[in-house]
Amino acid sequence: MPANELENLMTEIIVIGGGPAGLSAALVCARRGLDTTVIEKRSFPVIKTCGEGLMPGGVDSLKRLVPQKLINKIEYHPFAGIRYIAPNGECASGYFGKGDGWGIERSELSKLLSLAVEQEPGINLLENTVATVEGSAEQPIVHFNSQTLRPKLLIAADGLHSPIRRWAELNGPPSKLKRWGLRQHYQITPWTNLVEVHWSKDMEAYVTPVSPNTVGIAVLSHRELISSWQRPISLKATLEVFSNLEPKLLSSEAKDQLIGIGPLHQTVKRTGTGKVVLVGDAAGYLDAITGEGISNAMEQALLIDRIFKKQKEKPSIDELVFNYANQLPALMRRYYWLTHLTLLLHRRPSLVNQVVRVFQKTPWLFNYLLDLNSARSFSEAANSSLQIHGRSYGRELLRVVTRRSIGEIRKKS
Ligand SMILES: Cc1cc2nc3c(=O)[nH]c(=O)nc-3n(C[C@H](O)[C@H](O)[C@H](O)COP(=O)(O)OP(=O)(O)OC[C@H]3O[C@@H](n4cnc5c(N)ncnc54)[C@H](O)[C@@H]3O)c2cc1C
Repeated sequence: MPANELENLMTEIIVIGGGPAGLSAALVCARRGLDTTVIEKRSFPVIKTCGEGLMPGGVDSLKRLVPQKLINKIEYHPFAGIRYIAPNGECASGYFGKGDGWGIERSELSKLLSLAVEQEPGINLLENTVATVEGSAEQPIVHFNSQTLRPKLLIAADGLHSPIRRWAELNGPPSKLKRWGLRQHYQITPWTNLVEVHWSKDMEAYVTPVSPNTVGIAVLSHRELISSWQRPISLKATLEVFSNLEPKLLSSEAKDQLIGIGPLHQTVKRTGTGKVVLVGDAAGYLDAITGEGISNAMEQALLIDRIFKKQKEKPSIDELVFNYANQLPALMRRYYWLTHLTLLLHRRPSLVNQVVRVFQKTPWLFNYLLDLNSARSFSEAANSSLQIHGRSYGRELLRVVTRRSIGEIRKKS
């Protein structure tokens, strides 16, 4: 195509992928006055393998992105914290300090974000449309339906195994950590306002209440059984290894098909180059063990917004790509740290038993780790935790110090 013809087809922003990352990024770009086109290959609402637990930090981000009147139209189930159930049957519960998490089916989340996008002037939302990319990261050319566009910025929000990340040569080295995930919904009244995490020898089951009569189950594992998710396998047979799962759940009706995805760990060299930025799972993903992927996706969109906001005049794309790729690692550091730490537990049932026992004795530690899960940094988590749980931490500290001092006095005498 001649250069001048291409020039006429220039557009400001193209977002490929209409998951939480793509839709959130489109909202912030359009609100900064940029002409934005979102291309999604499936029809809305889009579903995906997910534990569907939105942590309190993610709930805050969602509320910043979407008007309350739209939130009022969707169904979600608040949860107050997380309960770990160890392989030996012992359990410990941790509670969020600030705000609830939400169990929200992906179809509801997709409905919410796509409604917000549809109502935003300046966004052209295309569904059932596959986008392909050619050219270079410095001058990307996007084809869809029978159109060709050359965006000033290409936002790749095309998910875990992002073909655009590969095309832009931003893939990192393959990982040795291979884990897969499954999910299915069951028709049953939730029996708790916590997300339950059941640990077994080599897999975990996440039980999340998502509506007054629906519970979602996600399973994460490195097992072969899960790597063959494309063949029909029974989630219930898999769940039988979890001896402490609510028996009613095992006999309840599945509401939909079992779906799965993997391997999960995807590394990236960098999250932006030329005129391309990666958001959401496309920007790299470690594991779903701490349930933060959706929160991260929205936080990344809000980072784009903050960078645009700092620019004095018209948004500059080159500056955005540079700053986004430089600032994202610091924003994701807490997620990677916490996820690596939690991954130490998988495949180590006796360690899980011990950790659950520690959490039973020091509930403030579990609460702090949950606050960390929702905070942007360690100090923010410590601050909010101290404000909320300060008194109980203080009591706990006093108890430990008193016990130690008595021990030392006894030793001396
Ligand atoms: C088992 C499991 C449990 C999880 N549990 C949780 C949890 O409890 N809480 C949480 O916050 N996160 C959880 N996650 C992570 C979360 O699901 C992801 O982080 C999140 O979906 C990332 O959103 P995304 O928009 O980046 O990607 P996606 O949601 O995958 O969206 C990508 C979109 O791009 C579209 N697309 C791809 N290629 C093209 C193309 N060429 N043209 C047009 N469209 C295209 C796809 O159709 C898709 O809709 C879990 C993940 C797994 C696997």
